[in-house]
Amino acid sequence: MITFDRVSKRYAEGHEALREVSVELGRDELVFLTGHSGAGKSTLLRLIMLIERPTRGQIIIDGENLAKVKARGIPRHRRNIGVVFQNHQLLFDRTVFDNVALPLVIAGYEHREIGRRVRAALDKVGLLARERALPITLSGGEQQRVGIARAVVAKPRILLADEPTGNLDPALSAEIMQLFEAFNQVGVTVVIASHDLALISRLRHRILTLREGRLVSSGG
Ligand code: ADP
Ligand code: ADP
Repeated sequence: MITFDRVSKRYAEGHEALREVSVELGRDELVFLTGHSGAGKSTLLRLIMLIERPTRGQIIIDGENLAKVKARGIPRHRRNIGVVFQNHQLLFDRTVFDNVALPLVIAGYEHREIGRRVRAALDKVGLLARERALPITLSGGEQQRVGIARAVVAKPRILLADEPTGNLDPALSAEIMQLFEAFNQVGVTVVIASHDLALISRLRHRILTLREGRLVSSGG
Protein backbone atom coordinates (compact mmCIF):
# COMPACT_ATOMS: atom_id res chain seq x y z
CA MET A 1 0.00 0.00 0.00
CA ILE A 2 1.31 3.43 -1.02
CA THR A 3 -0.25 6.49 0.61
CA PHE A 4 0.35 10.10 -0.43
CA ASP A 5 -0.95 12.51 2.20
CA ARG A 6 -1.08 16.14 0.97
CA VAL A 7 2.27 15.83 -0.77
CA SER A 8 3.77 18.93 -2.37
CA LYS A 9 7.11 19.17 -4.12
CA ARG A 10 8.82 22.42 -4.92
CA TYR A 11 12.16 22.17 -6.73
CA ALA A 12 15.05 24.41 -5.78
CA GLU A 13 14.38 26.68 -8.77
CA GLY A 14 11.00 27.43 -7.21
CA HIS A 15 8.78 25.42 -9.52
CA GLU A 16 5.96 23.62 -7.72
CA ALA A 17 5.84 20.23 -9.46
CA LEU A 18 3.28 18.59 -7.13
CA ARG A 19 0.59 20.36 -5.09
CA GLU A 20 -1.23 18.74 -2.18
CA VAL A 21 -1.48 15.30 -3.76
CA SER A 22 -3.40 12.79 -1.64
CA VAL A 23 -4.04 9.28 -2.91
CA GLU A 24 -3.95 5.66 -1.78
CA LEU A 25 -2.71 2.86 -4.00
CA GLY A 26 -3.70 -0.64 -2.93
CA ARG A 27 -1.24 -3.49 -2.50
CA ASP A 28 -2.56 -5.37 -5.53
CA GLU A 29 -3.30 -2.39 -7.73
CA LEU A 30 -2.08 -1.42 -11.16
CA VAL A 31 -2.62 2.31 -11.70
CA PHE A 32 -1.88 4.61 -14.58
CA LEU A 33 -0.58 8.09 -14.01
CA THR A 34 -1.37 10.50 -16.80
CA GLY A 35 -1.24 14.19 -17.61
CA HIS A 36 0.57 16.50 -20.00
CA SER A 37 4.33 16.83 -20.10
CA GLY A 38 5.36 18.75 -16.98
CA ALA A 39 2.25 17.72 -14.99
CA GLY A 40 4.38 16.05 -12.30
CA LYS A 41 4.26 12.34 -13.23
CA SER A 42 8.02 11.72 -13.06
CA THR A 43 8.26 13.75 -9.86
CA LEU A 44 5.66 11.51 -8.20
CA LEU A 45 7.67 8.42 -9.21
CA ARG A 46 10.94 10.01 -8.05
CA LEU A 47 9.38 10.68 -4.63
CA ILE A 48 8.44 7.00 -4.28
CA MET A 49 12.02 6.03 -5.21
CA LEU A 50 13.45 8.63 -2.78
CA ILE A 51 15.35 10.30 -5.60
CA GLU A 52 13.53 13.40 -4.36
CA ARG A 53 11.94 14.31 -1.02
CA PRO A 54 8.58 16.08 -0.62
CA THR A 55 8.57 19.72 0.43
CA ARG A 56 5.38 19.11 2.45
CA GLY A 57 3.19 16.15 3.25
CA GLN A 58 3.93 12.48 3.83
CA ILE A 59 4.44 9.33 1.80
CA ILE A 60 3.79 6.03 3.57
CA ILE A 61 4.64 2.68 1.99
CA ASP A 62 3.45 -0.48 3.74
CA GLY A 63 3.25 1.40 7.01
CA GLU A 64 6.69 3.01 6.73
CA ASN A 65 6.84 6.80 6.59
CA LEU A 66 9.49 7.60 3.96
CA ALA A 67 10.49 10.69 5.95
CA LYS A 68 12.03 8.24 8.42
CA VAL A 69 14.21 6.58 5.77
CA LYS A 70 17.63 8.19 6.11
CA ALA A 71 20.23 8.37 3.34
CA ARG A 72 21.84 5.09 4.39
CA GLY A 73 18.44 3.35 4.25
CA ILE A 74 17.78 4.37 0.64
CA PRO A 75 19.50 1.36 -1.04
CA ARG A 76 17.40 -1.02 1.06
CA HIS A 77 14.27 0.99 0.20
CA ARG A 78 15.09 0.83 -3.54
CA ARG A 79 15.52 -2.94 -3.43
CA ASN A 80 11.74 -3.15 -3.01
CA ILE A 81 11.17 -1.11 -6.15
CA GLY A 82 11.72 -2.09 -9.78
CA VAL A 83 11.98 0.72 -12.32
CA VAL A 84 11.36 0.63 -16.08
CA PHE A 85 12.43 3.53 -18.30
CA GLN A 86 11.25 4.62 -21.72
CA ASN A 87 14.75 4.44 -23.19
CA HIS A 88 15.55 1.07 -21.53
CA GLN A 89 18.91 2.30 -20.18
CA LEU A 90 20.51 -1.02 -21.11
CA LEU A 91 24.25 -1.55 -21.24
CA PHE A 92 24.85 -2.16 -24.93
CA ASP A 93 28.24 -3.85 -24.54
CA ARG A 94 26.80 -6.53 -22.22
CA THR A 95 24.62 -9.50 -23.00
CA VAL A 96 20.93 -9.68 -22.20
CA PHE A 97 21.81 -12.01 -19.31
CA ASP A 98 24.36 -9.58 -17.85
CA ASN A 99 21.95 -6.65 -18.15
CA VAL A 100 19.24 -8.47 -16.23
CA ALA A 101 21.76 -9.79 -13.69
CA LEU A 102 23.07 -6.33 -12.84
CA PRO A 103 20.78 -5.51 -9.87
CA LEU A 104 21.53 -8.92 -8.33
CA VAL A 105 25.29 -8.52 -8.82
CA ILE A 106 25.13 -5.10 -7.13
CA ALA A 107 23.07 -6.55 -4.27
CA GLY A 108 25.69 -9.28 -3.81
CA TYR A 109 23.64 -12.36 -4.70
CA GLU A 110 25.49 -15.66 -5.04
CA HIS A 111 26.45 -16.82 -8.56
CA ARG A 112 24.02 -19.76 -8.80
CA GLU A 113 21.12 -17.76 -7.41
CA ILE A 114 21.81 -15.05 -10.01
CA GLY A 115 21.62 -17.58 -12.85
CA ARG A 116 18.41 -19.05 -11.52
CA ARG A 117 16.67 -15.71 -11.01
CA VAL A 118 17.85 -14.16 -14.29
CA ARG A 119 16.52 -17.12 -16.26
CA ALA A 120 13.22 -17.01 -14.38
CA ALA A 121 12.85 -13.29 -15.20
CA LEU A 122 13.81 -13.79 -18.86
CA ASP A 123 11.33 -16.65 -19.08
CA LYS A 124 8.53 -14.42 -17.77
CA VAL A 125 9.16 -11.82 -20.50
CA GLY A 126 9.60 -14.48 -23.21
CA LEU A 127 13.30 -13.89 -23.86
CA LEU A 128 14.99 -16.96 -22.41
CA ALA A 129 16.32 -17.93 -25.84
CA ARG A 130 18.10 -14.58 -26.20
CA GLU A 131 20.14 -14.55 -22.99
CA ARG A 132 23.48 -14.53 -24.89
CA ALA A 133 22.39 -11.82 -27.34
CA LEU A 134 23.65 -8.24 -27.23
CA PRO A 135 20.80 -5.70 -26.82
CA ILE A 136 21.72 -3.98 -30.10
CA THR A 137 20.58 -7.11 -31.98
CA LEU A 138 17.09 -6.98 -30.39
CA SER A 139 14.01 -5.08 -31.55
CA GLY A 140 12.72 -2.11 -29.56
CA GLY A 141 9.98 -4.20 -27.98
CA GLU A 142 12.48 -6.90 -27.01
CA GLN A 143 14.81 -4.31 -25.51
CA GLN A 144 11.95 -2.98 -23.43
CA ARG A 145 11.23 -6.53 -22.23
CA VAL A 146 14.86 -6.86 -21.15
CA GLY A 147 14.35 -3.64 -19.18
CA ILE A 148 11.28 -5.15 -17.54
CA ALA A 149 13.10 -8.40 -16.70
CA ARG A 150 15.87 -6.35 -15.06
CA ALA A 151 13.26 -4.37 -13.08
CA VAL A 152 11.59 -7.51 -11.68
CA VAL A 153 14.59 -9.83 -11.26
CA ALA A 154 15.02 -9.00 -7.57
CA LYS A 155 11.29 -9.55 -6.96
CA PRO A 156 10.32 -6.01 -5.97
CA ARG A 157 6.98 -5.34 -4.27
CA ILE A 158 6.54 -2.18 -6.34
CA LEU A 159 7.11 -1.73 -10.06
CA LEU A 160 7.33 1.82 -11.44
CA ALA A 161 7.42 2.62 -15.14
CA ASP A 162 8.00 6.05 -16.69
CA GLU A 163 6.54 6.15 -20.23
CA PRO A 164 7.48 2.51 -20.86
CA THR A 165 5.81 2.39 -24.27
CA GLY A 166 6.86 5.83 -25.45
CA ASN A 167 8.95 4.52 -28.34
CA LEU A 168 6.81 1.52 -29.30
CA ASP A 169 4.03 1.03 -31.83
CA PRO A 170 0.48 0.28 -30.55
CA ALA A 171 0.69 -3.52 -30.88
CA LEU A 172 3.99 -3.74 -29.01
CA SER A 173 2.74 -1.24 -26.43
CA ALA A 174 -0.27 -3.47 -25.72
CA GLU A 175 2.07 -6.46 -25.27
CA ILE A 176 4.21 -4.55 -22.81
CA MET A 177 1.10 -3.54 -20.83
CA GLN A 178 0.05 -7.21 -20.67
CA LEU A 179 3.41 -8.02 -19.10
CA PHE A 180 2.83 -5.36 -16.42
CA GLU A 181 -0.63 -6.84 -15.80
CA ALA A 182 0.89 -10.29 -15.35
CA PHE A 183 3.31 -9.00 -12.70
CA ASN A 184 0.46 -7.14 -11.02
CA GLN A 185 -1.53 -10.38 -10.86
CA VAL A 186 1.17 -12.02 -8.77
CA GLY A 187 0.92 -9.25 -6.18
CA VAL A 188 3.21 -6.47 -7.37
CA THR A 189 1.91 -2.89 -7.00
CA VAL A 190 2.41 -1.31 -10.44
CA VAL A 191 2.44 2.43 -11.24
CA ILE A 192 2.78 3.35 -14.91
CA ALA A 193 3.24 6.97 -16.03
CA SER A 194 1.94 7.31 -19.57
CA HIS A 195 0.36 9.97 -21.73
CA ASP A 196 -0.92 7.36 -24.18
CA LEU A 197 -4.58 7.85 -23.23
CA ALA A 198 -5.87 5.78 -26.14
CA LEU A 199 -3.96 2.76 -24.86
CA ILE A 200 -4.53 3.12 -21.12
CA SER A 201 -8.23 3.92 -21.32
CA ARG A 202 -8.78 0.57 -23.07
CA LEU A 203 -7.28 -1.29 -20.09
CA ARG A 204 -9.43 -1.62 -17.02
CA HIS A 205 -7.33 0.02 -14.35
CA ARG A 206 -7.53 3.15 -12.27
CA ILE A 207 -6.23 6.29 -13.97
CA LEU A 208 -4.76 9.11 -11.88
CA THR A 209 -4.67 12.40 -13.77
CA LEU A 210 -2.28 15.20 -12.86
CA ARG A 211 -2.68 18.74 -14.11
CA GLU A 212 0.00 21.28 -13.20
CA GLY A 213 0.93 19.21 -10.15
CA ARG A 214 -2.59 18.72 -8.87
CA LEU A 215 -4.36 15.38 -8.85
CA VAL A 216 -7.54 16.26 -10.76
CA SER A 217 -8.93 12.74 -11.09
CA SER A 218 -8.20 9.50 -9.30
CA GLY A 219 -11.04 7.48 -10.76
CA GLY A 220 -11.27 4.52 -13.13
P1 ADP B 1 6.08 14.93 -16.12
O1 ADP B 1 6.80 13.66 -15.76
O2 ADP B 1 4.60 14.86 -15.95
O3 ADP B 1 6.47 15.43 -17.48
P2 ADP B 1 7.83 16.18 -14.19
O4 ADP B 1 7.56 15.58 -12.87
O5 ADP B 1 9.04 15.72 -14.94
O6 ADP B 1 6.53 16.06 -15.09
O7 ADP B 1 7.94 17.75 -14.03
C1 ADP B 1 6.98 18.53 -13.32
C2 ADP B 1 7.46 19.97 -13.27
O8 ADP B 1 8.62 20.05 -12.45
C3 ADP B 1 7.88 20.51 -14.64
O9 ADP B 1 7.50 21.87 -14.70
C4 ADP B 1 9.37 20.37 -14.64
O10 ADP B 1 9.97 21.35 -15.45
C5 ADP B 1 9.71 20.56 -13.18
N1 ADP B 1 10.91 19.79 -12.81
C6 ADP B 1 11.11 18.46 -12.93
N2 ADP B 1 12.30 18.10 -12.46
C7 ADP B 1 12.89 19.24 -12.01
C8 ADP B 1 14.14 19.54 -11.38
N3 ADP B 1 15.04 18.58 -11.12
N4 ADP B 1 14.39 20.82 -11.05
C9 ADP B 1 13.48 21.78 -11.30
N5 ADP B 1 12.29 21.60 -11.88
C10 ADP B 1 12.00 20.33 -12.22
P1 ADP C 1 14.18 13.43 -17.91
O1 ADP C 1 15.06 14.29 -17.06
O2 ADP C 1 14.12 13.88 -19.33
O3 ADP C 1 12.81 13.21 -17.31
P2 ADP C 1 15.94 11.17 -17.24
O4 ADP C 1 16.58 10.28 -18.25
O5 ADP C 1 16.80 12.03 -16.42
O6 ADP C 1 14.83 11.98 -18.05
O7 ADP C 1 15.09 10.28 -16.27
C1 ADP C 1 13.93 9.66 -16.68
C2 ADP C 1 13.22 9.23 -15.43
O8 ADP C 1 13.94 8.18 -14.82
C3 ADP C 1 13.15 10.35 -14.42
O9 ADP C 1 11.94 11.03 -14.54
C4 ADP C 1 13.24 9.66 -13.10
O10 ADP C 1 11.95 9.36 -12.60
C5 ADP C 1 13.95 8.36 -13.42
N1 ADP C 1 15.34 8.34 -12.96
C6 ADP C 1 16.33 9.17 -13.32
N2 ADP C 1 17.47 8.85 -12.71
C7 ADP C 1 17.22 7.77 -11.96
C8 ADP C 1 18.00 6.95 -11.10
N3 ADP C 1 19.28 7.19 -10.86
N4 ADP C 1 17.40 5.89 -10.49
C9 ADP C 1 16.12 5.64 -10.71
N5 ADP C 1 15.35 6.39 -11.50
C10 ADP C 1 15.87 7.43 -12.13
